[in-house]
Amino acid sequence: MRLAELKKVSYPETVAEAVRILAEGENRSLPLSGGVSFVFAPLKSVEELVSLSRLPLSYVKEEKGGLRIGATTPVADLAASRAAGKYGDGILSLTARRIGSNLNRNLITVGGNLVQPFIWSDLPTVALVLNAAVVIQGPSGRKTMKAEKFFARMPKQLLKDGELVTEVIFPPLPKNSRTAYEQFALTEVDFAYLKTAIRLSRTGKKCLNLAIVIGGATILPQRASGAEAALKGKTANQVLVNEASEIAAEEIKIQRDIRCSSDYKRDLARAQVRGILERILLDQKVPEWKLF
Ligand SMILES: Cc1cc2nc3c(=O)[nH]c(=O)nc-3n(C[C@H](O)[C@H](O)[C@H](O)COP(=O)(O)OP(=O)(O)OC[C@H]3O[C@@H](n4cnc5c(N)ncnc54)[C@H](O)[C@@H]3O)c2cc1C
Repeated sequence: MRLAELKKVSYPETVAEAVRILAEGENRSLPLSGGVSFVFAPLKSVEELVSLSRLPLSYVKEEKGGLRIGATTPVADLAASRAAGKYGDGILSLTARRIGSNLNRNLITVGGNLVQPFIWSDLPTVALVLNAAVVIQGPSGRKTMKAEKFFARMPKQLLKDGELVTEVIFPPLPKNSRTAYEQFALTEVDFAYLKTAIRLSRTGKKCLNLAIVIGGATILPQRASGAEAALKGKTANQVLVNEASEIAAEEIKIQRDIRCSSDYKRDLARAQVRGILERILLDQKVPEWKLF
């Protein structure tokens, strides 16, 4: 962490005050949420950090079958949240539990994890699959942006001076929805190589609607839209599931990663997509070993 130019840390108590300080500081002031990313991303020309720790933004609330999660909610709280546990097969709390170690999870916040994705980040993949919306508060008011737009490029490039992510909204899921998230890492606390999140709704084995998102192949999560098209509206069977997994593995872009080859990541994508679909669409009892 380089702090050479840092002169001040402020602790606003309201979102309006935080927005005002950030807007006045232009690009010389930066929000500080869990602060964990500063280990990896140097603080170039930052003179002021604006701590979000006193803002009333740490909560997980149920609302009409959906969830509203405050930006400063530590991922440890998301992992433990009963409301999150009840939403969409518990995908959000299960994902939060897979982030780093206990110590990391106490610091890392939902907002920080979404605003600054790294190739190992978990929540962007799940926010995209669940069609979440990000609430942004700035000098010109409040706006909401769908995850698809938020992750179309690095979110920090979208945020103007003074704009803060304050909340993430997870919409209610249709009846008969299933969701699942899988990731592959060498150890329980290591950065995952690749992860897959799937949301679908079904009647019997007919797949009415689905989203397949792969994370960790590139920094930003990717929709496997060819694989989705192969299944949407069809009655699934093993052959179709194998085909869709193959399409997903072939269609995703893969960025160079010093830890493994691109082919290895394609193999992981194929296995994860297939394993999840066998479980939540074909109702097979897929043992863990088969997923990886
Ligand atoms: C050892 C280790 C292991 C890790 N493992 C994982 C892992 O397995 N999976 C995973 O997903 N992550 C993992 N992380 C965390 C990840 O790399 C990021 O560091 C973390 O998500 C940042 O969250 P934060 O709350 O600390 O945000 P910060 O570091 O405080 O902020 C991140 C960036 O976003 C900006 N920002 C923060 N909040 C807001 C907001 N509300 N509005 C606007 N801008 C904002 C900040 O100015 C900063 O530029 C790991 C980190 C470490 C150190």
